[in-house]
Amino acid sequence: MVSELRFIVDHNVGKLARWLRMMGYDSLFFDGSDDSHMVAQALAEDRVILTRDSAIMKRRVVNSGRIRAILINSEESEQQMRQVMDTLELKRQLRPFTLCLECNQPLVERKWEEVKERVPPYVYKTQSQYMECPACHRIYWRGTHWEAMIKKLEKFSDFSS
Ligand SMILES: [Zn+2]
Repeated sequence: MVSELRFIVDHNVGKLARWLRMMGYDSLFFDGSDDSHMVAQALAEDRVILTRDSAIMKRRVVNSGRIRAILINSEESEQQMRQVMDTLELKRQLRPFTLCLECNQPLVERKWEEVKERVPPYVYKTQSQYMECPACHRIYWRGTHWEAMIKKLEKFSDFSS
């Protein structure tokens, strides 16, 4: 049930999109051009709006509960992430590398041989599992960056439990 949550992330809390994708949540980034578009898309695709714009919260579709929206309090991205995780109880939903952190596309598994020419030699020597984004062709592996993000997410969970 919780895993079906999808998000639309307003530009004023844009960093949340990467964190949520890291957790496996389909999260669109909204560039802030026209709030009506964001609200319409949230309604059409059943997405939770994350924003720091209190005017969004006053809109009738949000007010009436037809769309779920979370007004983010903090300016600091780790605090923002904690608020989202607390509000929606996301702490047990770690699914790193199911979605591209850059473009929100589901990642596809790649074999060791397939990525040989496309990752640094030290990575190729030490890693055996790879994922590729079919849209931007970025290759993901479980390196130190991955571990750093997981540790941070786990820290958020501790904080909220
Ligand atoms: Zn991508």
